[in-house]
Amino acid sequence: MMLCLGAVGVLIMVTVAAASPSLIPLPSSSRHERGWFRLGPGLRIVVAAGAPARAAEIADVLREGLFELAGVGAVVEPDQGRRPEGTISLSLDAGAFPGEPEAYRLKVGRSAKIIASDPRGLLWGAQTFIQSIEPTAAGPAVRRGTVTDRPHRSWRGLMLDPVRSFLDLDFIRRTIRVMSAYKLNVLHLHLIDDEAWRFESKAWPKCNRPGEPLYTQADLRGLVTFAERYGVEIVPEFDVPGHSMTAVNAYPELDCERRTRAMNEAILCAGRAFTREFIDRLVAEAAEVFPSAFIHLGADEPYAIKRWAECPDCRARMAREGVTSVDALYHVFLRNLDGIAKSHGKRLIVWNDAIHPGVEPMPPRDILVDAWFNLAVVAPLAASGYVILNSSQGPLYLTSFGLGEGLPLAAVLAWNATRFPDPPAEMGDRALKYQSLAPQAKVLGGHASAWATEQSLVERRLYPRLLAVADDLWSERKASDAVEFEKRYRAGHEERLRRLGVPDDGEGTSETPFPGGPGAVLAPGATPPGWIATVRACRDFRLAFEWRASPSPEGAHTGVLIRCAPGPDKGAAPEGLPIVAAPPPGRVMSSGARPSDGWNRCEVAARGPVVSLTINGILAWSIVDPAPRAGLIVLKGMGPGHEFRNVRLWRLGGSK
Ligand SMILES: [Zn+2]
Repeated sequence: MMLCLGAVGVLIMVTVAAASPSLIPLPSSSRHERGWFRLGPGLRIVVAAGAPARAAEIADVLREGLFELAGVGAVVEPDQGRRPEGTISLSLDAGAFPGEPEAYRLKVGRSAKIIASDPRGLLWGAQTFIQSIEPTAAGPAVRRGTVTDRPHRSWRGLMLDPVRSFLDLDFIRRTIRVMSAYKLNVLHLHLIDDEAWRFESKAWPKCNRPGEPLYTQADLRGLVTFAERYGVEIVPEFDVPGHSMTAVNAYPELDCERRTRAMNEAILCAGRAFTREFIDRLVAEAAEVFPSAFIHLGADEPYAIKRWAECPDCRARMAREGVTSVDALYHVFLRNLDGIAKSHGKRLIVWNDAIHPGVEPMPPRDILVDAWFNLAVVAPLAASGYVILNSSQGPLYLTSFGLGEGLPLAAVLAWNATRFPDPPAEMGDRALKYQSLAPQAKVLGGHASAWATEQSLVERRLYPRLLAVADDLWSERKASDAVEFEKRYRAGHEERLRRLGVPDDGEGTSETPFPGGPGAVLAPGATPPGWIATVRACRDFRLAFEWRASPSPEGAHTGVLIRCAPGPDKGAAPEGLPIVAAPPPGRVMSSGARPSDGWNRCEVAARGPVVSLTINGILAWSIVDPAPRAGLIVLKGMGPGHEFRNVRLWRLGGSK
């Protein structure tokens, strides 16, 4: 007996001496020993005979990851019952982690073994193995040891918004692979909104306007299959009854007064049977494309809800339902959405501002609440039994902040799925205070959001912050420590992102100088007077410049105008669509962007029909610009006293 204890003691001393690989997210427990499992020629991945087909697919994801991320070749073979050295085996054992489908154990010695109760756990074990590979003098290798791991939260997501700023399928596919590498498992796709429908609707084809980019149903089916391979579930969002300008303008009978509407003034009529039919057929189409058990129907920000109080159809509906306020009618509407979702086999998700605590009739308690704003509203919903997804504006709006430096990592790391900014965070807040929900709150998990941002900016802002969110959701670290996280991140994860296809800042672009070159101050009085232009046309570009303006009388029309126009005549003001009109210094834009009296860092990104503007690192806006950009890019001060400096232009990869 004493002898055994002595042997254990020696083992522990050895364990303490071995370093651990820099894993993101941090595993629940890991113990590493001296010695390596070397990944040389002849490496085999084996799957037990009779294992489900998904296990073999995960073996292939592992093979692919070994090659792409570590340059290691391996073959996948059925298990012959031998356990030779240099084999990685995948084993399903129902008794290993009962009730924990995502848990796994990775044991590495002379061979490696991944054990889980469900293929989901096998995949995460495979991703941990890939991340554990380190370069050594004798080639790539994995430290010997054992990792036993399970997630704190089962919903670990990212929301992408291809409506305001179209995102191409290549971008979404590589984002899915990054998500999988960091054990994020839900991609929330915001597919329809005021500005456009990106979902090809066969039921309501007028919502897909000619010439606008969209995903066909075949595209989306392919994307679902791709995401399933990498353990990522796609949950679609179709935002109703607000954010419905495209729908109302395509089918005005959806409007209470049967007319078209401007931005933020559209809402679907709650009283008319056609509204129900419209949503029901849309959800039916969505259910055919997306196998997820969930559907998100938005229901946020019904800015035009006052119209319901005046509409005869809505008022008749209120009388039939026995409710006396539009807020109560809104809850009736949510109950209908829930019924539609359930009739198509889906569980409904809505944004938290759809539900007003205390207003009867309360919507069904099994609606999942996507909580993005205001703890004062979220806390009573959680207390009354709603299950919460935490998507806090502020720490999780990863692309709504700075370009280069962005939201501090510490602000992201201080968040976890039980915590909300209190007071509520506005976009641009960098110093956040947090409060936690009561311990009995049911929190399924959370997701980061990438709203309304051109895709090259999305990538520059997501990383490494999305990896910090993955760490928060999987490991739920008790205290933020940006220094420790950054140390782990710097140990190979930047390189990993590059290998997964995330462009380095500026990669794939070529800089085209403006007249005068970087650093030049181009003031009014320069030639041509008042404006400067590129020397050549450029369709997909990133334009960075610094701008300042002298104070002007209140109300004077000042700002920066950027035009992409047919070639301007010499000396004449350029013709064409103004794509940027920045506000005067000192004014806050609705987005929170705030130009100062000094030099302001501005950046315009244009790709395809999408144009985004950031001012001092804050996204001022992003639009879909239907006019083709065919001419020179022109920067022009509106009114007196504008100066520009450090004007730099990059053509984005692939464009002419
Ligand atoms: Zn109505």
